[in-house]
Amino acid sequence: MASSILQVESIVKRAAQQAGFELAGIAPAADSPELQSFPEWIAAGHAGEMKYMEARDEQGSLKRASLSRVAPWARSVVVCAINYNTDHPYSTEVQDPDRGWISRYAWSREDYHGAVLRRLQQVEAALHEAVEESAPQLITRSYVDTGPIVERVFAKYAGVGWIGKNTCIINQKIGSWLFLGVILTSLDLTPDVPAPDRCGTCTRCIEACPTDAILAPYQLDANRCISYLTIEKRGSIPEELRAGIGRHVFGCDICQDVCPWNRKAPATSAPEFSAREGLVNPALDWLAEMSAEGFRETFRGSPIRRAKRSGLRRNAVLAMGNSGNGQFLQLLKELVIDEDESVAESAIWAMERLRNLL
Ligand code: SF4
Ligand code: SF4
Repeated sequence: MASSILQVESIVKRAAQQAGFELAGIAPAADSPELQSFPEWIAAGHAGEMKYMEARDEQGSLKRASLSRVAPWARSVVVCAINYNTDHPYSTEVQDPDRGWISRYAWSREDYHGAVLRRLQQVEAALHEAVEESAPQLITRSYVDTGPIVERVFAKYAGVGWIGKNTCIINQKIGSWLFLGVILTSLDLTPDVPAPDRCGTCTRCIEACPTDAILAPYQLDANRCISYLTIEKRGSIPEELRAGIGRHVFGCDICQDVCPWNRKAPATSAPEFSAREGLVNPALDWLAEMSAEGFRETFRGSPIRRAKRSGLRRNAVLAMGNSGNGQFLQLLKELVIDEDESVAESAIWAMERLRNLL
């Protein structure tokens, strides 16, 4: 006998749990007020050089602004979330002038896209199996970051969590260290209740952001965000933001580290997300001097490849400048004539910055 729609929802959520997702919910594939402001955010230039955010359809409309336009067949969105937190201290709890900071999500050996997609495809398969008789024409698409969809907006409407003032999805029980995956489906499933906003009067993330990237609650300017600057931005980083970058060499966790909802965030049980040795508080000189071969070897399959060797070395040089550790002066002096222009130029800045701090 074919499954009823209600059963399908339970089957999907059970499949998500079996695949290792802590959270799963269903959102309508509808446009929402959050998406209405997306074109405005893009027009203001807040996406920086992240051109994929600006992908447009043949009519010239932003794909991510309207799911009903890019996937008119979609009726529901299954949103799954998996916790990637580990039991290491937060960046705000560690101060070591020799060492940099890599964002928590990038400590694992394997790129999370593959690890999450594999699990998501198990859920997708369970969905197909559940309705193969009643809905043989079922269409589904699974995405981890790559779909024409702002995942966190649908995560909110699927009840997975609310969108915090730091723009991350926060779950009341497990916090915000979450990877999201979405399955668009042509099935009309009963949606979950959207998660209520529990930020209240708190403004910790806004106050803690070292580069003032959270312009107003729920409003991020990627151009000022350390995550964007250290991962996506190529070439030179604007001088006025370099001091604020501190010791970050890949991403930034500060606005999540200070969030009260992460105070008791549990550690993940997914083996793929365990931290690799050397990536928690990495040595800055190791990164700044890394050869092309060393970069390839060390970061094979890792999300850190996205910054490219050039970006990672540039970031390590800036972090040395901000470190206050005079022992880096010698290495910086050598890097002033580095063949990579952005590394060399950053080294000049870093030497001056370091001398001012000493
Ligand atoms: S990730 Fe860092 S720089 Fe970006 S908004 Fe959060 S605290 Fe600010
Ligand atoms: S730090 Fe406070 S305001 Fe920021 S996301 Fe967390 S609860 Fe919301």
